[in-house]
Amino acid sequence: MADCIFCKIARKEIPAKLVYEDRQVVAFEDINPQAPVHTLVVPKSHFPTLNDVGAEEEGLLGHMTLVATRIAKDKGLHATGYRVVANCLEGAGQSVFHIHLHLLGGRRFTWPPG
Ligand code: AMP
Repeated sequence: MADCIFCKIARKEIPAKLVYEDRQVVAFEDINPQAPVHTLVVPKSHFPTLNDVGAEEEGLLGHMTLVATRIAKDKGLHATGYRVVANCLEGAGQSVFHIHLHLLGGRRFTWPPG
C-alpha cells in the first residue's frame, strides 16, 4: 500500500535495521524499543489489522510466529524467555495499521500487560 510505513520499509523505500528477510516477511528493530530486544516481524503483504486476515493466511501467520521464535533463538532469548505480541486496533495499542508481531525480550515482563 502506497502510504503505509511498513510497506515502505518492506520495499526498502525507507531505512530500517533489518534483521531478517524472506519471500513473505521482513523483520527489523523497533524504532522505539520497549525492551533490550524489540524486533518487529512484518509481512510483505498489506493487512491493516488482524481482523482483516482470513483463513487463507493461516500459513502466513504461522510463518510470522516461527520467524519470531527463530529470531528469539538467534538473540539468545530461548532459555530466559520472551514475549510475542500483536496489538489489534487502537483499543489494544495498535499504532501502525499493517499487521506485525512484536518480539520482546532481554528483561522481565509482568502479566497482565498494561
Ligand atoms: P503497534 O503500536 O503495535 O502498532 O506497533 C507499532 C510499532 O512500530 C511501535 O512499537 C513503533 O515504535 C514501531 N515503529 C513505528 N515506525 C517505525 C519505523 N519507521 N521503524 C521501526 N519501527 C517503527
